[in-house]
Amino acid sequence: MILMSLGIGPGDAVLTTPFTFFSTAGCIARVGATPIFIDIDPDSFALSPARLEEFLVKRCVSTSTGLKTNDGKRICAVIPVHLFGLGADMLSIIEVAAHWNLPVIEDAAQAIGARYPTRDGVRSAGGVGLAGFSSFYPTKNLGAFGDAGMVVTNDSALAQSLRVIRNHGMAPKYFHRQIGGNFRLDALQAVVLLKKLPHLGAWSQRRWEIAQEYRAALADLSPDLLLPVEPYLESCGSAGHIFHQFVIRTKHRDALRANLQGIGIGTEIYYPLALHQQDCFRDLGYREGEFPEAERAAKECLALPIFPELTREEIGLVTGAIHTFFENKHV
Ligand SMILES: *Cc1c(COP(=O)(O)O)cnc(C)c1O
Repeated sequence: MILMSLGIGPGDAVLTTPFTFFSTAGCIARVGATPIFIDIDPDSFALSPARLEEFLVKRCVSTSTGLKTNDGKRICAVIPVHLFGLGADMLSIIEVAAHWNLPVIEDAAQAIGARYPTRDGVRSAGGVGLAGFSSFYPTKNLGAFGDAGMVVTNDSALAQSLRVIRNHGMAPKYFHRQIGGNFRLDALQAVVLLKKLPHLGAWSQRRWEIAQEYRAALADLSPDLLLPVEPYLESCGSAGHIFHQFVIRTKHRDALRANLQGIGIGTEIYYPLALHQQDCFRDLGYREGEFPEAERAAKECLALPIFPELTREEIGLVTGAIHTFFENKHV
Protein backbone atom coordinates (compact mmCIF):
# COMPACT_ATOMS: atom_id res chain seq x y z
CA MET A 1 0.00 0.00 0.00
CA ILE A 2 2.82 2.40 0.84
CA LEU A 3 4.58 1.67 -2.43
CA MET A 4 1.29 2.06 -4.34
CA SER A 5 0.64 5.37 -2.60
CA LEU A 6 4.08 6.63 -3.59
CA GLY A 7 3.37 5.68 -7.21
CA ILE A 8 6.22 3.16 -7.30
CA GLY A 9 5.94 0.66 -10.15
CA PRO A 10 7.56 -0.64 -13.35
CA GLY A 11 10.89 1.05 -14.14
CA ASP A 12 11.44 1.83 -10.47
CA ALA A 13 13.74 0.19 -7.94
CA VAL A 14 13.51 -0.07 -4.15
CA LEU A 15 16.50 -0.92 -1.97
CA THR A 16 16.17 -3.45 0.85
CA THR A 17 17.94 -6.22 2.72
CA PRO A 18 18.28 -9.77 1.35
CA PHE A 19 17.99 -11.18 4.90
CA THR A 20 14.35 -10.78 5.86
CA PHE A 21 10.99 -12.46 5.54
CA PHE A 22 10.04 -12.75 1.87
CA SER A 23 7.27 -10.18 1.90
CA THR A 24 9.63 -7.21 2.31
CA ALA A 25 10.93 -7.80 -1.21
CA GLY A 26 7.83 -9.57 -2.50
CA CYS A 27 5.74 -6.42 -2.18
CA ILE A 28 8.32 -4.45 -4.20
CA ALA A 29 8.13 -6.98 -7.03
CA ARG A 30 4.33 -7.16 -6.84
CA VAL A 31 3.92 -3.46 -7.65
CA GLY A 32 6.12 -4.08 -10.69
CA ALA A 33 9.25 -2.47 -9.29
CA THR A 34 12.66 -4.12 -8.89
CA PRO A 35 14.02 -5.07 -5.47
CA ILE A 36 17.70 -4.20 -5.16
CA PHE A 37 19.46 -5.88 -2.25
CA ILE A 38 22.02 -4.30 0.08
CA ASP A 39 24.01 -6.63 2.35
CA ILE A 40 23.50 -6.70 6.13
CA ASP A 41 25.55 -5.79 9.14
CA PRO A 42 26.50 -9.19 10.67
CA ASP A 43 25.84 -8.06 14.26
CA SER A 44 22.36 -6.57 13.88
CA PHE A 45 21.34 -8.70 10.86
CA ALA A 46 19.85 -5.48 9.42
CA LEU A 47 20.63 -3.49 6.28
CA SER A 48 24.14 -2.04 6.53
CA PRO A 49 24.29 1.76 6.20
CA ALA A 50 27.89 1.44 4.96
CA ARG A 51 26.85 -0.95 2.18
CA LEU A 52 23.89 1.34 1.39
CA GLU A 53 26.15 4.34 0.97
CA GLU A 54 28.62 2.31 -1.06
CA PHE A 55 25.83 1.26 -3.43
CA LEU A 56 24.53 4.79 -3.84
CA VAL A 57 28.01 6.22 -4.44
CA LYS A 58 29.45 3.52 -6.68
CA ARG A 59 26.51 1.98 -8.51
CA CYS A 60 24.11 4.88 -9.11
CA VAL A 61 24.01 8.05 -11.16
CA SER A 62 22.34 11.33 -10.24
CA THR A 63 20.17 12.57 -13.12
CA SER A 64 17.78 15.50 -13.56
CA THR A 65 14.91 13.10 -12.86
CA GLY A 66 16.51 11.66 -9.74
CA LEU A 67 18.82 8.90 -8.68
CA LYS A 68 19.11 6.04 -11.19
CA THR A 69 20.80 2.68 -11.43
CA ASN A 70 23.33 2.16 -14.23
CA ASP A 71 20.58 0.50 -16.27
CA GLY A 72 18.22 3.45 -15.87
CA LYS A 73 15.89 2.39 -13.05
CA ARG A 74 14.71 5.19 -10.80
CA ILE A 75 15.64 4.53 -7.16
CA CYS A 76 12.54 5.40 -5.17
CA ALA A 77 12.92 4.29 -1.58
CA VAL A 78 14.84 2.17 0.89
CA ILE A 79 13.19 -0.37 3.21
CA PRO A 80 15.33 -1.29 6.22
CA VAL A 81 13.98 -4.15 8.33
CA HIS A 82 14.10 -4.20 12.13
CA LEU A 83 14.80 -7.90 12.24
CA PHE A 84 14.11 -10.16 15.24
CA GLY A 85 12.96 -7.18 17.36
CA LEU A 86 16.11 -5.03 17.10
CA GLY A 87 16.04 -1.69 15.31
CA ALA A 88 18.33 -1.26 12.31
CA ASP A 89 20.98 1.45 12.58
CA MET A 90 18.50 4.23 11.80
CA LEU A 91 20.82 6.99 12.93
CA SER A 92 23.11 6.20 9.98
CA ILE A 93 20.49 4.92 7.52
CA ILE A 94 18.40 8.10 7.83
CA GLU A 95 21.52 10.21 7.37
CA VAL A 96 22.58 8.39 4.20
CA ALA A 97 19.03 8.34 2.81
CA ALA A 98 18.52 12.05 3.56
CA HIS A 99 21.74 12.91 1.74
CA TRP A 100 20.35 11.23 -1.39
CA ASN A 101 16.78 12.43 -0.82
CA LEU A 102 15.54 8.86 -0.56
CA PRO A 103 12.34 8.10 1.40
CA VAL A 104 12.79 5.49 4.14
CA ILE A 105 10.02 2.94 4.73
CA GLU A 106 10.51 0.94 7.91
CA ASP A 107 9.60 -2.74 8.06
CA ALA A 108 8.65 -2.96 11.74
CA ALA A 109 6.75 -6.25 11.40
CA GLN A 110 9.03 -7.89 13.97
CA ALA A 111 9.68 -4.83 16.10
CA ILE A 112 6.46 -3.23 17.31
CA GLY A 113 7.33 -1.06 20.29
CA ALA A 114 11.09 -1.50 19.88
CA ARG A 115 13.08 1.69 20.48
CA TYR A 116 16.25 3.04 18.92
CA PRO A 117 18.21 6.29 19.10
CA THR A 118 17.80 8.93 16.39
CA ARG A 119 19.14 12.44 15.89
CA ASP A 120 15.96 13.71 17.59
CA GLY A 121 16.12 11.37 20.54
CA VAL A 122 14.78 7.89 21.11
CA ARG A 123 11.98 6.73 18.79
CA SER A 124 9.82 3.64 18.31
CA ALA A 125 10.30 1.38 15.30
CA GLY A 126 8.34 2.75 12.36
CA GLY A 127 8.39 6.27 13.75
CA VAL A 128 11.30 7.93 12.00
CA GLY A 129 10.94 7.05 8.31
CA LEU A 130 8.36 8.51 5.92
CA ALA A 131 6.24 5.52 6.88
CA GLY A 132 6.53 2.30 8.80
CA PHE A 133 4.52 -0.89 8.84
CA SER A 134 3.75 -3.66 11.28
CA SER A 135 2.27 -7.10 10.93
CA PHE A 136 -0.16 -8.66 13.40
CA TYR A 137 0.29 -12.15 12.00
CA PRO A 138 -0.33 -14.52 14.94
CA THR A 139 3.38 -15.27 15.48
CA LYS A 140 4.37 -11.61 15.97
CA ASN A 141 4.82 -9.97 19.41
CA LEU A 142 1.32 -8.54 18.98
CA GLY A 143 -0.63 -11.18 17.08
CA ALA A 144 -4.22 -11.21 15.89
CA PHE A 145 -6.21 -14.43 15.55
CA GLY A 146 -5.62 -14.20 11.83
CA ASP A 147 -4.07 -11.76 9.41
CA ALA A 148 -3.83 -8.05 10.11
CA GLY A 149 -1.35 -5.22 9.75
CA MET A 150 -0.81 -1.51 10.22
CA VAL A 151 0.89 1.43 8.54
CA VAL A 152 2.09 4.46 10.48
CA THR A 153 3.15 7.78 9.01
CA ASN A 154 3.21 11.41 10.06
CA ASP A 155 2.71 12.56 6.46
CA SER A 156 -0.97 13.51 6.28
CA ALA A 157 -1.17 13.36 2.46
CA LEU A 158 0.28 9.86 2.49
CA ALA A 159 -2.08 8.86 5.31
CA GLN A 160 -5.09 10.08 3.31
CA SER A 161 -3.93 8.27 0.19
CA LEU A 162 -3.43 5.06 2.20
CA ARG A 163 -6.97 5.29 3.60
CA VAL A 164 -8.34 5.47 0.05
CA ILE A 165 -6.14 2.72 -1.39
CA ARG A 166 -7.06 0.47 1.55
CA ASN A 167 -10.66 0.47 0.37
CA HIS A 168 -10.40 -0.16 -3.39
CA GLY A 169 -9.30 3.40 -4.12
CA MET A 170 -12.84 4.53 -3.37
CA ALA A 171 -13.43 8.21 -2.51
CA PRO A 172 -16.17 9.23 -2.23
CA LYS A 173 -18.33 6.11 -2.11
CA TYR A 174 -18.47 4.32 -5.51
CA PHE A 175 -16.19 6.82 -7.19
CA HIS A 176 -12.70 5.59 -8.04
CA ARG A 177 -9.96 7.92 -9.20
CA GLN A 178 -7.30 5.30 -8.53
CA ILE A 179 -7.10 1.53 -8.27
CA GLY A 180 -6.69 0.32 -4.70
CA GLY A 181 -7.46 -3.01 -3.16
CA ASN A 182 -9.06 -4.65 -0.16
CA PHE A 183 -6.47 -3.95 2.53
CA ARG A 184 -8.98 -3.32 5.32
CA LEU A 185 -8.33 -4.46 8.87
CA ASP A 186 -11.07 -6.93 9.74
CA ALA A 187 -13.18 -5.65 12.65
CA LEU A 188 -12.94 -8.98 14.50
CA GLN A 189 -9.16 -8.85 14.34
CA ALA A 190 -9.29 -5.26 15.58
CA VAL A 191 -11.26 -6.40 18.65
CA VAL A 192 -8.66 -9.06 19.43
CA LEU A 193 -5.81 -6.59 18.95
CA LEU A 194 -7.42 -3.93 21.13
CA LYS A 195 -7.82 -6.47 23.93
CA LYS A 196 -4.20 -7.63 23.62
CA LEU A 197 -2.57 -4.24 23.06
CA PRO A 198 -2.47 -3.19 26.76
CA HIS A 199 -0.40 -6.33 27.50
CA LEU A 200 2.15 -5.79 24.74
CA GLY A 201 4.62 -3.86 26.90
CA ALA A 202 4.67 -6.50 29.62
CA TRP A 203 4.95 -9.34 27.08
CA SER A 204 7.90 -7.69 25.34
CA GLN A 205 9.52 -6.98 28.71
CA ARG A 206 9.15 -10.65 29.64
CA ARG A 207 10.76 -11.65 26.32
CA TRP A 208 13.67 -9.36 27.17
CA GLU A 209 14.04 -10.97 30.60
CA ILE A 210 14.06 -14.44 29.01
CA ALA A 211 16.74 -13.18 26.63
CA GLN A 212 18.87 -12.10 29.61
CA GLU A 213 18.49 -15.56 31.15
CA TYR A 214 19.59 -17.18 27.90
CA ARG A 215 22.46 -14.72 27.69
CA ALA A 216 23.71 -15.45 31.20
CA ALA A 217 23.50 -19.20 30.69
CA LEU A 218 25.10 -19.30 27.24
CA ALA A 219 27.77 -16.59 27.43
CA ASP A 220 30.55 -19.07 28.23
CA LEU A 221 30.05 -20.89 24.91
CA SER A 222 31.52 -17.98 22.94
CA PRO A 223 33.05 -18.03 20.34
CA ASP A 224 31.49 -21.37 19.31
CA LEU A 225 28.10 -19.81 19.90
CA LEU A 226 27.44 -16.09 19.41
CA LEU A 227 24.63 -14.28 21.21
CA PRO A 228 22.40 -11.49 19.85
CA VAL A 229 23.76 -7.95 20.31
CA GLU A 230 21.90 -5.18 22.15
CA PRO A 231 23.45 -1.95 20.88
CA TYR A 232 20.70 0.25 22.35
CA LEU A 233 20.77 -1.09 25.89
CA GLU A 234 22.27 2.11 27.24
CA SER A 235 20.10 4.56 25.28
CA CYS A 236 16.79 2.65 25.31
CA GLY A 237 16.99 0.10 28.13
CA SER A 238 15.03 -3.13 27.73
CA ALA A 239 12.92 -1.56 24.94
CA GLY A 240 16.07 -1.49 22.79
CA HIS A 241 15.38 -5.09 21.72
CA ILE A 242 11.93 -6.67 22.01
CA PHE A 243 13.26 -10.15 21.15
CA HIS A 244 10.66 -11.16 18.64
CA GLN A 245 13.24 -13.90 18.18
CA PHE A 246 16.30 -14.89 20.18
CA VAL A 247 18.75 -15.76 17.44
CA ILE A 248 22.12 -17.32 18.10
CA ARG A 249 24.86 -17.99 15.58
CA THR A 250 27.02 -21.08 15.33
CA LYS A 251 28.94 -22.93 12.63
CA HIS A 252 27.41 -26.12 14.06
CA ARG A 253 23.88 -24.84 13.47
CA ASP A 254 22.40 -27.84 11.64
CA ALA A 255 23.85 -30.43 14.03
CA LEU A 256 22.72 -28.42 17.06
CA ARG A 257 19.23 -28.04 15.63
CA ALA A 258 18.94 -31.78 14.92
CA ASN A 259 20.21 -32.55 18.41
CA LEU A 260 17.66 -30.25 20.09
CA GLN A 261 14.91 -31.58 17.86
CA GLY A 262 15.78 -35.09 19.05
CA ILE A 263 15.01 -34.17 22.65
CA GLY A 264 11.84 -32.29 21.84
CA ILE A 265 13.13 -28.72 21.78
CA GLY A 266 11.77 -26.82 18.81
CA THR A 267 13.94 -24.25 17.04
CA GLU A 268 13.57 -22.42 13.75
CA ILE A 269 15.82 -21.06 11.05
CA TYR A 270 15.10 -17.47 10.06
CA TYR A 271 15.97 -17.60 7.18
CA PRO A 272 17.53 -20.63 5.47
CA LEU A 273 17.96 -18.80 2.17
CA ALA A 274 18.74 -15.14 1.51
CA LEU A 275 16.27 -13.49 -0.85
CA HIS A 276 18.70 -13.09 -3.76
CA GLN A 277 19.04 -16.90 -3.64
CA GLN A 278 15.30 -17.52 -4.01
CA ASP A 279 14.13 -19.14 -7.24
CA CYS A 280 11.52 -16.46 -7.92
CA PHE A 281 14.21 -13.75 -7.88
CA ARG A 282 16.63 -15.63 -10.16
CA ASP A 283 15.86 -13.21 -12.99
CA LEU A 284 17.27 -10.34 -10.91
CA GLY A 285 20.65 -11.77 -11.90
CA TYR A 286 22.39 -11.98 -8.53
CA ARG A 287 25.28 -14.38 -8.04
CA GLU A 288 26.07 -16.70 -5.14
CA GLY A 289 28.54 -14.86 -2.90
CA GLU A 290 27.22 -11.42 -3.80
CA PHE A 291 25.94 -10.77 -0.27
CA PRO A 292 28.40 -12.71 1.91
CA GLU A 293 27.02 -11.56 5.28
CA ALA A 294 23.43 -12.45 4.42
CA GLU A 295 24.51 -15.82 3.05
CA ARG A 296 26.62 -16.57 6.13
CA ALA A 297 23.75 -15.57 8.44
CA ALA A 298 21.44 -17.93 6.53
CA LYS A 299 23.89 -20.77 7.28
CA GLU A 300 24.60 -19.94 10.95
CA CYS A 301 21.42 -18.55 12.51
CA LEU A 302 19.20 -20.48 14.89
CA ALA A 303 16.21 -19.11 16.80
CA LEU A 304 15.68 -20.58 20.27
CA PRO A 305 12.23 -20.85 21.86
CA ILE A 306 11.05 -17.48 23.12
CA PHE A 307 7.57 -16.38 24.17
CA PRO A 308 6.32 -14.65 27.33
CA GLU A 309 5.01 -17.86 28.94
CA LEU A 310 8.35 -19.69 28.72
CA THR A 311 9.33 -20.74 32.26
CA ARG A 312 12.71 -20.58 33.98
CA GLU A 313 12.74 -24.39 34.04
CA GLU A 314 12.16 -24.59 30.32
CA ILE A 315 14.91 -22.05 29.69
CA GLY A 316 17.19 -24.23 31.83
CA LEU A 317 16.29 -27.30 29.77
CA VAL A 318 17.16 -25.50 26.53
CA THR A 319 20.45 -24.03 27.77
CA GLY A 320 21.41 -27.33 29.47
CA ALA A 321 20.85 -29.21 26.22
CA ILE A 322 22.95 -26.70 24.29
CA HIS A 323 25.79 -27.04 26.81
CA THR A 324 25.66 -30.83 26.57
CA PHE A 325 25.80 -30.57 22.78
CA PHE A 326 28.93 -28.40 22.77
CA GLU A 327 30.65 -30.46 25.49
CA ASN A 328 30.17 -33.69 23.57
CA LYS A 329 31.27 -32.06 20.40
CA HIS A 330 34.45 -30.37 21.51
CA VAL A 331 35.81 -31.93 24.68
C1 LIG B 1 5.70 -10.94 9.20
C2 LIG B 1 6.54 -10.04 8.40
C3 LIG B 1 6.02 -9.19 7.40
C4 LIG B 1 4.56 -9.12 7.04
O1 LIG B 1 3.98 -10.33 6.89
P1 LIG B 1 2.41 -10.49 6.63
O2 LIG B 1 2.32 -11.93 6.34
O3 LIG B 1 2.12 -9.64 5.44
O4 LIG B 1 1.70 -10.04 7.85
C5 LIG B 1 6.86 -8.31 6.77
N1 LIG B 1 8.17 -8.27 7.05
C6 LIG B 1 8.71 -9.04 7.99
C7 LIG B 1 10.18 -8.90 8.27
C8 LIG B 1 7.93 -9.97 8.68
O5 LIG B 1 8.50 -10.73 9.63
